[in-house]
Amino acid sequence: MTAQAHGDAIEQAWRDLVATARRTAAEGLVVGTSGNVSVRVDGDVVLVTPSGVPYDRLGPGDVLGVGLDGERVIGSGVPTSELPLHLALYRATGARAVVHTHAVHATAVSTLVSELPPVHYMTAALGGPVRVAPYALYGTAELARNMLAALRDRTACLLANHGTVAHGDTLDQAYDRTAQLEWMCRLWLTASSVPGRTPALLSDSQLADAAGRLRDYGRRPPDAPPA
Ligand code: 13P
Ligand code: ZN
Repeated sequence: MTAQAHGDAIEQAWRDLVATARRTAAEGLVVGTSGNVSVRVDGDVVLVTPSGVPYDRLGPGDVLGVGLDGERVIGSGVPTSELPLHLALYRATGARAVVHTHAVHATAVSTLVSELPPVHYMTAALGGPVRVAPYALYGTAELARNMLAALRDRTACLLANHGTVAHGDTLDQAYDRTAQLEWMCRLWLTASSVPGRTPALLSDSQLADAAGRLRDYGRRPPDAPPA
């Protein structure tokens, strides 16, 4: 890739990152400057939201990038305090984008259980029942370690008394997984708050069937054989 193409790719990735961060606020998954977003670009540069800056103030001139070691390589802002969490994910997995929020239903669930009960087949889209990483102070390596363990074979987890983390191949995918997780947490809270009733849960084999079917979700079925 030429230097010009690399620069263009970074500009585009920054625009996408800012749009995703703004969406977390606009769609009610965070309040104020809570949460953070990152995306990995070629050359092992990770673009990250700055710490404590409202997303509507971010423009093209605020691009901020770090290496996988956390050294700032682009821009002059202060990277998100959750840099250890984002970088741990890029070092340990093939993730290309990470979204962290304080979505309210997800955070409520993180105070009640150690795993989100599988009330819906979309559990399978996140790799299986979503675990809750034990509480640790925000911004710490301990929180990053707890998160990595909770994310084993999963694309999303909850952070106890804190929020959500989801990763994906793209920012849109990491965002969509976050929104699905928040929706499923709202669903479980709603169903489990009916007095005297407990929600029915899906079995491992039902989730495995859903995972199989979801692999083709949105794809055109193969042409039907001639009659
Ligand atoms: P930053 O503003 O530093 O990204 O922190 C927000 C947050 O959610 C910490 O967990
Ligand atoms: Zn947070």
